[in-house]
Amino acid sequence: MNNIFSSKETFKEALRAEVSARFGRDLEDAYDEERYLALGALIRDHAGNSWKLTKKSVRANGTKQLYYFSMEFLMGRLMVNNLMNMGIYDVVRDGLADLGLDIHNLEELECDAGLGNGGLGRLAACFLDSLASLNLAGNGNCIRYHYGLFKQEIVNDEQVEKPDCWLRLGNVWEVWKPQHAVQVKFGGTLDAYMDQFGHFHSHHNPAFVVRAVPYDVPIVGYNTPTTNTLRLWDAEVDEESVQAGVLNKYLNDVQALTANVYPDDSTYEGKELRLKQEYFFVCAGVDQLIHNHLRVYGSLDNLAEKTAIQLNDTHPVLVIPELMRVLMDDYDYDWDQAWDIVTRTVAYTNHTIMAEALERWPQEMMRSLLPRVYMIIEEIERRFHYEVQHAGKEHMFPAMSILSNNQVNMANLAVVGSHSVNGVAKIHSEILINDVMASFASFYPGRFNNKTNGVTHRRWLVYSNPQLTELLKKYIGDSFIKHPEDLEKLMAYVDDPKLQEEFFEVKLERKKILAAYVKEHLGIEVDVNTIFDCQSKRLHAYKRQLMNIFHIMYLYLRMKQDPNYRITPTTYFFSAKAAPGYALAKEIIKLIVKVANRINGDPQVSQYMKVVFIPNYSVSIAELLINAADVSEQISTAGKEASGTGNMKYMMNGALTLGTLDGANVEIVDCVGFENAKIFGLKVEDIECIRRENSYDVWRIYHSNPKLRMVIDSLRNCTWSENPNEFQLIFNDLMLHKDEFFVLADFDAYLMAHADVSAWYADKPAWARAMLVNIAKSGYFSSDRTIREYAKEIWGLDEIKFTRQERLEAGCTVDDEEDAA
Ligand SMILES: *Cc1c(COP(=O)(O)O)cnc(C)c1O
Repeated sequence: MNNIFSSKETFKEALRAEVSARFGRDLEDAYDEERYLALGALIRDHAGNSWKLTKKSVRANGTKQLYYFSMEFLMGRLMVNNLMNMGIYDVVRDGLADLGLDIHNLEELECDAGLGNGGLGRLAACFLDSLASLNLAGNGNCIRYHYGLFKQEIVNDEQVEKPDCWLRLGNVWEVWKPQHAVQVKFGGTLDAYMDQFGHFHSHHNPAFVVRAVPYDVPIVGYNTPTTNTLRLWDAEVDEESVQAGVLNKYLNDVQALTANVYPDDSTYEGKELRLKQEYFFVCAGVDQLIHNHLRVYGSLDNLAEKTAIQLNDTHPVLVIPELMRVLMDDYDYDWDQAWDIVTRTVAYTNHTIMAEALERWPQEMMRSLLPRVYMIIEEIERRFHYEVQHAGKEHMFPAMSILSNNQVNMANLAVVGSHSVNGVAKIHSEILINDVMASFASFYPGRFNNKTNGVTHRRWLVYSNPQLTELLKKYIGDSFIKHPEDLEKLMAYVDDPKLQEEFFEVKLERKKILAAYVKEHLGIEVDVNTIFDCQSKRLHAYKRQLMNIFHIMYLYLRMKQDPNYRITPTTYFFSAKAAPGYALAKEIIKLIVKVANRINGDPQVSQYMKVVFIPNYSVSIAELLINAADVSEQISTAGKEASGTGNMKYMMNGALTLGTLDGANVEIVDCVGFENAKIFGLKVEDIECIRRENSYDVWRIYHSNPKLRMVIDSLRNCTWSENPNEFQLIFNDLMLHKDEFFVLADFDAYLMAHADVSAWYADKPAWARAMLVNIAKSGYFSSDRTIREYAKEIWGLDEIKFTRQERLEAGCTVDDEEDAA
């Protein structure tokens, strides 16, 4: 194959030809959008060759494959990532420059694929990058939502949700595969009967049938031919299945199925549409993997040996009964054989211990929407109950039952039907084992394990922070790109004044880039010589953005009272979306924006502090914000944040963690030492103790702490808004509903932690050293490490094999190390 990216000249020629063929124009006369679409098509087609090599190798060698089922994939943009991973970025940039085009302008035309809420969806995206880069056959399975979560705008100081039309220009990366469409059936009735041999049969007469049509997105690894697939399922009408007289309703129902991402990652109200979405992509994904397997092996007996399924949280848990259904009803396995195959194939990742976020569905809804699947769940429950009784553990059953209180408990179904259950950070897995799922952990010892999350250091360091990457290469070479643990080599230089100075220059450069964005889009001037203190993540009470803004309110009020009280100049950045129905979270955004307006407009105080709320937090905003940060705010109530991954991205770019001992913060301090982070506040044990003793008294704290009282009073005395009732929900949540997340309890410790950080910042060599240590120790938090652990300990995956010739054909470097391997 002749590789058009092998030289600038061939690339330019190909781009001209592509624009001409697609749009009937010369490149010079084309619109930027047309150039972008042509470029995207060339890159995608180039990935096609590696895609083919990967599929061939997997099939020829019988390589075990992973299917990662996730309701969310927060991919962000793919242009830079793909060009860099394929090693053709420079050729394309230089070729475009020859043509008088700036690659950055084309990059900016790509819409973020925001097919998710936040951390959970971004984890899935990081995992795909690591799987491909580590030569593992791992495919994503999700829904092709027509709209992303939502586009957040701030209007009159409040969040407004606009549609996120990410498909406006189409999606240059996807390939439509109508030939692989699958029928998905909902509702209706089930006829069950026994045949003359006593075998159970059922016939489903569905009320609603749609065609699931796949769109495949190639996922290219770093410097390897390995190219996996992210399969996004879209819903289309099934011509044969429309009942007379209801055509319009049918069309609407089909449309609604894949219209948008469910905009809430914390609670699940009984939303039938969401359950339909879950079954839709589960059913289609299972059908696909069964067919792939049969094509290669001709039998499903060895499914578990050749296929691993990972469930990213409980949203895809219907995989368990669905796979049972297919094995029994379509392929005549009996229950025990089918159950053995299913449980050896499926593994489950738990992402939350917050009771209100554990997914439950009304039994009646599940029974009427998915009659056969529900029947199988009942049988799973019956047999599991028998197993528990037989083991003499009946007393433990209520805590483990799948069906209770007229609900289907999806987490319990996930544990019963899989061979591995993992938490996402050490402390989270411990809480699962010792507390939330203690009964299961003792009933199934060995099933529970931990896999601490990670983020792909390629996107979050190498590609989004080229300035830092260049500096690192200068000191420690480029081996860390392939082997992130090599970042540790930087430890030899952390005291080097030259490196420290060069690092500050890089940080300053990144701050200038962020400041320019803020100036252009928000009209706010920020001083790049101030501390950049950042909190970016979904808006949620447990993440305590409220405590952050309270601290800022306190500093402002104090400076207004006392002209001699002045702080180290700091710019506070927030970026966060609130679920549209989450009134308290939206009120907190309003408070942040109103406080920002007041402070930024105050000439006395704004030289010392500014507050910036960047709307529409997304992967692209994160790529701009995180690498400019000095301080990373990770201040959740201890025990509530399962892991966090934002904390890892910040650390990788040198920001110091100002945080509680929660989630992966615990492991971050394990790596860098307490002297290279600022840890404060109540620990999990402290909070348990307060709860047990029922000793939390918000009014006592209010009356005994004048600083806090000043802040809380300011919510209702027209300091930030003319309307004294503007922040009533916040006030009530803290003072009348007893401050569930201990904002008041941790407030003083948080103030002191901030004061310590400011003092630390003044000592430039100490500060630089700490930042560099954070970078040096961040290799552990690469998702490459996480994926290696999953592959070895849960999935049993081996690497895809390529010949030297194939590697060369795919344009990869063939170095000595790989030859030896
Ligand atoms: C990393 C990331 C998150 C997760 O952030 P946490 O601080 O771990 O909650 C959410 N949204 C986006 C866009 C991200 O990139």
